[in-house]
Amino acid sequence: MTVIRKTQAQEAVLSLLEAASTALSADEILQQIDVSVNKTTVYRMLERFVAAGKVHFVTDTDGKAHYALCSSGCKQNHTLHNHLHFQCKVCNQVECLPVKLEVPVLENYEVHEMQFLTVGVCPKCK
Ligand SMILES: [Zn+2]
Ligand SMILES: [Zn+2]
Ligand SMILES: [Zn+2]
Repeated sequence: MTVIRKTQAQEAVLSLLEAASTALSADEILQQIDVSVNKTTVYRMLERFVAAGKVHFVTDTDGKAHYALCSSGCKQNHTLHNHLHFQCKVCNQVECLPVKLEVPVLENYEVHEMQFLTVGVCPKCK
């Protein structure tokens, strides 16, 4: 077995997310990645990407996180991903939709993250 450098695995995960049309769960990343990494490594990488403002996630109705690349310029406001996410109940894919939402100002509350999830049937499965 060839030894995979950490940066190689990171690049593989990032390019996978870049090419994906939907937000990917850690399991989907593990299935699709062409370098051998274990689940813990993938989770740790994703956490680091989230902390760096490169990737955001949305939790589906089963509590599973789906990861997608952040748009450039996300860094300053990484807690507010004010676009809609859609979870399809048929194919279970979660996607980022280019629909902007108005984020309410919650006075006296400290906001760490916001998730906007819509559940239904996607155009492919309809
Ligand atoms: Zn972000
Ligand atoms: Zn679907
Ligand atoms: Zn998104």
